Amino acid sequence: MNVTSKSPDSPKTAQSTAHFPLADQWGRVADDLRISLIDKCNLRCTYCMPEEGMQWLPKKSLLSTAEAIRIADIGVRLLGVKDIRFTGGEPLIRRDLEEIVAGVRALHPDVSISLTTNAIGLDKRVAGLAEAGLTRINVSLDTVRKQTFAEMTRRDRLDAVIRGIDAALTAGLDPVKVNAVMLRGINDDQAAELLDWCLQRGLQLRFIEQMPLDADHNWARENLVSAAEIREQISEQFRIAVHPAPRGSAPAQLWDVFAKDEPVEDATPLGQVGIIASVTESFCAACSRTRITADGHIRSCLFSHEETDLMELLRDGSSDEDIARRWQSAMWMKPRAYGSDDVTLNSADYVQPERTMSAIGG
Ligand code: SAM
Ligand code: SF4
Repeated sequence: MNVTSKSPDSPKTAQSTAHFPLADQWGRVADDLRISLIDKCNLRCTYCMPEEGMQWLPKKSLLSTAEAIRIADIGVRLLGVKDIRFTGGEPLIRRDLEEIVAGVRALHPDVSISLTTNAIGLDKRVAGLAEAGLTRINVSLDTVRKQTFAEMTRRDRLDAVIRGIDAALTAGLDPVKVNAVMLRGINDDQAAELLDWCLQRGLQLRFIEQMPLDADHNWARENLVSAAEIREQISEQFRIAVHPAPRGSAPAQLWDVFAKDEPVEDATPLGQVGIIASVTESFCAACSRTRITADGHIRSCLFSHEETDLMELLRDGSSDEDIARRWQSAMWMKPRAYGSDDVTLNSADYVQPERTMSAIGG
């Protein structure tokens, strides 16, 4: 399933892309499914959640174990999904996570099943998750300094996160990736330190530019720690060079990381670092994501103001084919870029969606 156009300037007709199961009118195909399992979380990262006052979804409106497995199955079996990622909120809060992973794995032995987590409690669950069929894991960690961690997450839980990461490595999950957001004046001087820490443990670090999806609406373009700035900062301690493998639809630009003093000719990389420039070098034209919120709504784009309800079909006896058709129609209408054709994150016209990152499922 190749995406034929990298720069979709004009809509395609339904006819021309009908053989792509989750195609949109701009020539893209979604085969990467993110399912949010819960909106609750045990941290309160400032770029994501408010300190207090979050309105949680009622338990009965969350996808049940069987519904989460059914959604994943329809995605893979009928709609060409190749990668499934469970996220939240904090997916480890769901006690049935192992059951969900095992249920999807039993139906689809070859699909990639991954998890994005803050790793609190992962040390006790990761062996079971690996046994259930989890393929890969991404852990969010923005700093390895205790005080900065507490400031960014409003909780003193760095030790628990590190225990979770160590356990994921011991369980043999490969790769274990680390997601990090840099905040101006908080941890923006720690990019190289975090990279060094990750390289020493064989972790693949991904920096993500902060996006305007925070509950407090504090995001400001002028405070953004850009991909360029992150590259500059890590270049003070390491030499980096664009990783030679083609990027495809991956949101991260990968860089090989070398010791600074090693001669360039026969240098061996210490590892890789990814930088996701969601704001300054947006990758909408190559986006292959389709998202399901914890209450069973399709979101074709993180920044979209529109959602399509799949939960009602999941609960009213509709067939898998009916669900697949509604999913296809919703994805066909995926915006070309950032929620509307002319509005980018850099524009004053950008209006933040009502749901925050924790509620959408990052
Ligand atoms: N709780 C889990 C975690 O933190 O990994 C999963 C959900 S979290 C919403 C998923 C990812 O979104 C995390 O890596 C987090 O750093 C990222 N994220 C949250 N808010 C963000 C924002 N405003 N800009 C960029 N990334 C954000
Ligand atoms: Fe929780 Fe993840 Fe949001 Fe942090 S980024 S508050 S860990 S959902």
